[in-house]
Amino acid sequence: MRGMGSIPAGAAARRQVGIDLGGTSIKAGVVTDSGAIVTEDNFDPGFARGPQAVLDTLADIFKRLGGGEQLGIGVPGLLDRARGHLIASPNLPGFVDLGVKHELARRVGLAPERVHVENDANAAAVGELWLGAGRGTRDALLVTLGTGIGGGLILNGELYAGSGMAGEVGHVVVDPHGPPCGCGKRGCVETLASATAARRRALAAQLPPDKPGDLPTLTARARSGSLAELALLREIGRDLGRGLGPVVCLLDLSTFVFGGGFSAALDLLEPGIREGLDERSYSGRGPHVRLLQATLGPSAGWIGAARVALLAHP
Ligand SMILES: [Zn+2]
Repeated sequence: MRGMGSIPAGAAARRQVGIDLGGTSIKAGVVTDSGAIVTEDNFDPGFARGPQAVLDTLADIFKRLGGGEQLGIGVPGLLDRARGHLIASPNLPGFVDLGVKHELARRVGLAPERVHVENDANAAAVGELWLGAGRGTRDALLVTLGTGIGGGLILNGELYAGSGMAGEVGHVVVDPHGPPCGCGKRGCVETLASATAARRRALAAQLPPDKPGDLPTLTARARSGSLAELALLREIGRDLGRGLGPVVCLLDLSTFVFGGGFSAALDLLEPGIREGLDERSYSGRGPHVRLLQATLGPSAGWIGAARVALLAHP
């Protein structure tokens, strides 16, 4: 795979279709080689009708958007990336052992090598680093703070996927005696610093008292200087930083980009994140790491999926 910025000049008019298949909705659009967004829209996946009907919907979206020379799909789940196979997805019940790449190629009339299936967090990382926050940064981890914590790793300007699970920083264990995680372990950073975890911790601390566990209220009060809310967000940030520390030790990364709904609280989490980083990586490193908020919002996934499809088969 080539670097994110190494497409030959003169190819600027080619269109790539990107589709981000989320747990409740689909966001899709068309982007050109040079990064011009032609169109984007939201669609209803109609999950109740089953996987084959959803594949029909995805093919229909490709056609409704006017088609393109490549098609990239971001999906939440465990993939065989080489074959474009969705092995299983905890968020998409019934989507087991599904040949997404070949099924879609056949439905839209593209050669299979022009259809690429990518993990959704990886796709979002490529999208953000290409057109959003950290544009031009060659080494970064995108950390998605949502229901869980996802991650996508860019090294040397390229997506590094490992066997498919690289960058999954959400399952770094911070506290072996902490809350149980969906992965079977305890105290993964996802159980301590995701939006879900923040809500649970706010509830346990009886914050905010009138709207217990409501994150917008929690952050608004912290911003207005309320000490209990500030302290809780700092503590959550510290656990997040503790999860990111090993990443700094292993890769000497200097840029983290935070996406997902809870990243709106990054300014409040930041003091804690830096403390956690300092505690769990080289001493004195915490203050020097760049912590950026993602700028593409929910569009990062489809844009990145389109880009990865082009890079995989220019
Ligand atoms: Zn876990």
